[in-house]
Amino acid sequence: MSRSFDRRDFVKTTAAASLGLALPRSAHGRAPAVITRSARPVVVSSGNGYRYRHDGEITCVETVFQEMTGGTDILDSVLAGVKINELDPGDSSVGYGGLPNGDGVVQLDASCMHGPMKRAGSVACLEGVRTPSLVARAVMHETDHHLLVGPDAQRFARNMGFEIEDDLNSDHSRQRWLEWRRRIDPSRWPGEDDPDRIGYLSGMEMVADGLIDPEHYWGTINCNAVNQDGELAGCTTTSGLAWKIPGRVGDSPILGAGLYVDGEVGAAGSTGRGEANLFNLTSYLVVENLRRGMSPTDAGMEGLRRIRDNTIEPRLLNDEGEPNFNVRFYVVNAAGDYAGVTLRGGGQYAVCTENGPEFVDFEALL
Ligand code: ASP
Repeated sequence: MSRSFDRRDFVKTTAAASLGLALPRSAHGRAPAVITRSARPVVVSSGNGYRYRHDGEITCVETVFQEMTGGTDILDSVLAGVKINELDPGDSSVGYGGLPNGDGVVQLDASCMHGPMKRAGSVACLEGVRTPSLVARAVMHETDHHLLVGPDAQRFARNMGFEIEDDLNSDHSRQRWLEWRRRIDPSRWPGEDDPDRIGYLSGMEMVADGLIDPEHYWGTINCNAVNQDGELAGCTTTSGLAWKIPGRVGDSPILGAGLYVDGEVGAAGSTGRGEANLFNLTSYLVVENLRRGMSPTDAGMEGLRRIRDNTIEPRLLNDEGEPNFNVRFYVVNAAGDYAGVTLRGGGQYAVCTENGPEFVDFEALL
């Protein structure tokens, strides 16, 4: 439990909300769609959502819970939370200080979806802005589009008033990139018989040597929330796969791949090997499973089975013929039931309810 936001605060804010004492929602001054159902308010996120505080007192999931039960718009609440991770250089999987691409440049992907408004926005390959999730929200609110990419996404961000920086590396991320360069032969771009493996394997060596947190070699934060009125929102924001080929876009900014929110049904988002979600549009699949009446656990497990069944390339399989990578889903339905599921065992995800924040063990498929 956080130092400044204890159990009494949670009970107080939740009670106030249920008595109708919450402040009106802002959503940039726009009225949300009318939602009258009620739910058990809950925030779920990848584990880093309960690890980093940046300069503040509380973590992402605590912030989201506090904001949404205090009356802040549901997506604004989620973004107030993930922004903590984007700004904290200690989280080298997201935003400022994220592990860079193969050229040493931090390229960021993010998406957000607002359930009640049925709106969404994303950015991909964005450089120079610490908070890509907020640029994604600007795409959502200020344009007719869902996705802006690369230098034009940066130009859009500049026009929207975001600060543009030359370099988002922290000392830590720069040192790790230099170490990676030292470990590979830079003249050997992956050969025909060994696609993608050289850079990948030296990255994995660095994980094994304790130089990179495995959570950050892939890394990302996904955060989904439902408030006491059953309103849903979600965000996925990331620096993507460490040392990725410049221009590589993962699943995080692709609606249905790394994030999907249906305001009537539920929300799902993912961390891990983005290519698996790009191929299977798995977050969308998980939400469709919720729509068919599955529990969050069953819906997520079905998504993982689809990934397993569609993974047949030998380079992606281990000796048992199972996928040799990991993918995780964070799922919440409109009633406030939730789950965290993982392809391979181990690890915990973050949850915050009226009882406060906690780590919860994933349920594993393999
Ligand atoms: N899924 C994201 C990607 O593939 C980030 C991650 O690796 O978790 O870019």
